[in-house]
Amino acid sequence: MKKHNYSAGPCILPQEVFEKSAQAILNFNDSGLSILEISHRSKDFVAVMEEARALVLELLGLQGKGYQALFLQGGASMEFLRVPYNLLRDGGKASYLDTGTWAAGAIKEAKAFGETIVVASSKEDKYNHIPKHYAIPADADYFHCTSNNTIYGTQIKEFPETKIPVVCDMSSDIFSRQLDFSKFDLIYAGAQKNMGPAGVTLVVVKEAILGKTGRNIPNILNYQQHIEKESMYNTPAVFAVYTSLLTLQWLKRQGGIPAIEKINEAKAQLLYAEIDRNPLFNGTAVTEDRSNMNATFLLKDETQAQAFDQYWKEAGISGLTGHRSVGGYRASMYNALPLESVQVLVDVMKEFEKTNA
Ligand code: PMP
Repeated sequence: MKKHNYSAGPCILPQEVFEKSAQAILNFNDSGLSILEISHRSKDFVAVMEEARALVLELLGLQGKGYQALFLQGGASMEFLRVPYNLLRDGGKASYLDTGTWAAGAIKEAKAFGETIVVASSKEDKYNHIPKHYAIPADADYFHCTSNNTIYGTQIKEFPETKIPVVCDMSSDIFSRQLDFSKFDLIYAGAQKNMGPAGVTLVVVKEAILGKTGRNIPNILNYQQHIEKESMYNTPAVFAVYTSLLTLQWLKRQGGIPAIEKINEAKAQLLYAEIDRNPLFNGTAVTEDRSNMNATFLLKDETQAQAFDQYWKEAGISGLTGHRSVGGYRASMYNALPLESVQVLVDVMKEFEKTNA
């Protein structure tokens, strides 16, 4: 039986995406060939890449606005490095908001390239909130933030206004909510949450911000090279790109981001209401900054952990354990997780209360 999969990533994808991608491994487009054995330069795959790149811009409302979508490799972690390489001028400075482990990872890489200012950090509060009311230096080359903090369960609801280019790691909430994406100059996201399988990273970049560093950038790290080569500078992650396309097509059929956002809000409200009501649990993130993607919570009495774990596992729930660095529980409610799965978890929490309060 299919599990209720709360895994933080790689994570649940729509069932029809699993089925169609499995079919493409056996016989892609009725070609008599597997998608795994054809050239990335074949007509059929070039069409996949073109459609995927266009659909990303369409879903984000960025078509015709000077943006390019790229499907690269190396994970979001590679973009921690590629961003300063491409945007931080020789002798310039970068500014970062520190909201969690991944933001800190991005900061660490930028420091290797030049002056890196951390405009604010919630580290001292175990990253339980998003810092606000900070100043972004007007002379920095860019401002970098992480829209959703996968490990700590916080999410930026309002992005700061600034005239300098804004870079955002949207790995764990891209395509989940409506934003004015044109306010961002570079967005990146590892595919393995809302977009597809691990192995490919989406980069959406406004072309006008590139080529200003005065630095000699190796081709594989150079966004302009990838744009020129239409995201085929080197062999792309063919299967991951195809499966991402299937997920993007699925999202479009659901009604795109506006439709999925409503469902995501309903799922988050249902679960947070139970976390707040149930006397056995505590949420870990400050209420106003709670993530609609990853809900983090703790048992007030940790000695009940073994019993609770047994309850949810017996209900067919998988992947509810918190990140190894913070413990507790994390319910990741990405786009493909149905509302019914959240109801199952809420019922388990209620049932557990009856016997353990
Ligand atoms: N940023 C965020 C917000 C993430 O959640 C993750 C991974 N979960 C990463 C970056 C790192 O991504 P990758 O493993 O693809 O390098």
